[in-house]
Amino acid sequence: MSSIFFPPLIQQISNEMGANAGVKLSVLRLDLMHPQINGNKWFKLKYNLVEAKEKNLSTILTFGGAYSNHIYATAAAGNLFGFRTIGLIRGEENIPLNPTLQFAVAQGMELVYIDRQTYKQRHTEELQNHLKQRFGEVFIIPEGGCNLNGMRGCIEILQTVQGFNTICLACGTGTTLAGMALSLNQEQKVIGFPVLKGGDFLKEDINNLLTNYLASNLPTPVNSPAHWQLISDYHFGGYAKVTNKLKLFCQDFQQQYDIPLDHVYTGKMFYGVMDLIAKGFFKSESLLLIHTGGLQGNCE
Ligand SMILES: *Cc1c(COP(=O)(O)O)cnc(C)c1O
Repeated sequence: MSSIFFPPLIQQISNEMGANAGVKLSVLRLDLMHPQINGNKWFKLKYNLVEAKEKNLSTILTFGGAYSNHIYATAAAGNLFGFRTIGLIRGEENIPLNPTLQFAVAQGMELVYIDRQTYKQRHTEELQNHLKQRFGEVFIIPEGGCNLNGMRGCIEILQTVQGFNTICLACGTGTTLAGMALSLNQEQKVIGFPVLKGGDFLKEDINNLLTNYLASNLPTPVNSPAHWQLISDYHFGGYAKVTNKLKLFCQDFQQQYDIPLDHVYTGKMFYGVMDLIAKGFFKSESLLLIHTGGLQGNCE
């Protein structure tokens, strides 16, 4: 299943401010692993698809907003690996479809719109049973691939990567961070940058994911998570909120390093890291910044 993906490339970037502080900067380009199923979303899908196959379920049903990277990746993966896919989209249908949903439909995903009230109940057994009645035997993947299978895949992201003190990444649900924390040694740490306002609530979510994962019989390379922390000051107003400052930063960054950043996730984290370097937060360490993808969302 993994053979169609490029191994992730590590790109060094030379930054004067970083160099002065003794900070070495590298970027793990998960965005380049596949043209469509890119970034962390593939890792979160992988073991969900494996479990669906083991259970002989050929239909994947999942949830997302109208610009969701997870919907986009699930539609593409379903097409590639021979699953029928159904996307439950939050809110009303807007015609013409935006590029994300157009792509999903072109990959064969069936879109079903559900109102925001019902969408909030997506985790309840009641709604899930209702969906199984309506769509038949389906394998349900939660929004964003946020479950233990998703975490299991994320443990693999840093499997072949060595020699970094600190890993930085953008967080939505924290599933990717939780998986990474189970793949590092105790001398390393991972810093998450929540892209939602008031992102500190993620601490509890991440702790729950870690506790549940370690209590499951899923494989893990280590028995206790590496040090991790959240820096919640770089949300730029909240989820999918963009300011001119952020846009300009992304433009400059692309010009300087030839690395495109998305505005919802990676742009905010890269901005945060550069700002923290300027403020002297990092000293004499080797940082690995995870490019989790998300560029499809930049096209509107
Ligand atoms: C989904 C996504 C994230 C967030 O991943 P979580 O595991 O939910 O924290 C980060 N970056 C990009 C580009 C994403 O699409």
